[in-house]
Amino acid sequence: MIDNVDIESRLTEIRSRITAACKRFDRDPDTVNLLAVSKTKPLGMILTAARAGQVHFGENYLQEAVDKISAVQPGITWHYIGAIQSNKTRPIAESFDWVHTVANEKVARRLGQQRPNHLPPLKVLIQVNIGGEASKAGVEASKLATLLRSIIGLPNIEIRGLMAIPSPETDFDRQCDSFRQLRELKLEMAALFGDQLPLFQDLSMGMTGDLDAAVKEGATWLRIGTAIFGERA
Ligand SMILES: *Cc1c(COP(=O)(O)O)cnc(C)c1O
Repeated sequence: MIDNVDIESRLTEIRSRITAACKRFDRDPDTVNLLAVSKTKPLGMILTAARAGQVHFGENYLQEAVDKISAVQPGITWHYIGAIQSNKTRPIAESFDWVHTVANEKVARRLGQQRPNHLPPLKVLIQVNIGGEASKAGVEASKLATLLRSIIGLPNIEIRGLMAIPSPETDFDRQCDSFRQLRELKLEMAALFGDQLPLFQDLSMGMTGDLDAAVKEGATWLRIGTAIFGERA
């Protein structure tokens, strides 16, 4: 069990790791955001991290997330990074600020329709199945342009960029290979769609084990759980 002091020092440590990676790979640290992935971790840890200045939190499990979100004060920005069942989009549309795991037209449409009008548009990232493995979530790279074409202009959602969860690799160059593919896809789509995707800037990639490679290849959102909150049970 990690106590509160640990979370503060772990946050400080991960921030300096990110800063060091930005220096090493010539990235502007202001463009690399830390998403604290708090799935399975208790609310107390989230509040401690928030008091230590952490603003963005990511959750994977819908019911757990909705319970946590309704229990905290405003001021936290919530990101949904879990699998989406198309019949369970409403709580996502109502409770989150960002969704990183949109991978089909139906889900995008429902999220837009169900987004309450008093809230700003839902910021969405399209999850790409970078390795192309049948078992993995995300749209195939070859179908990304078609998907984007079908969801551009939907009301109440803003298409902000791409996300991927490549298979775990320990080798740095292999880690870079997957992230580079996502970066290149983003450039390709930006060139293809131009002004139709005015806010298409983000790359959500990199976790505790591969954040340096992700920074090198252009990540704007690092999704970090273990390094902040400890191992999950
Ligand atoms: C759990 C999870 C993370 C965090 O992974 P760590 O290895 O604990 O940093 C990041 N992204 C997604 C999609 C996750 O499910």
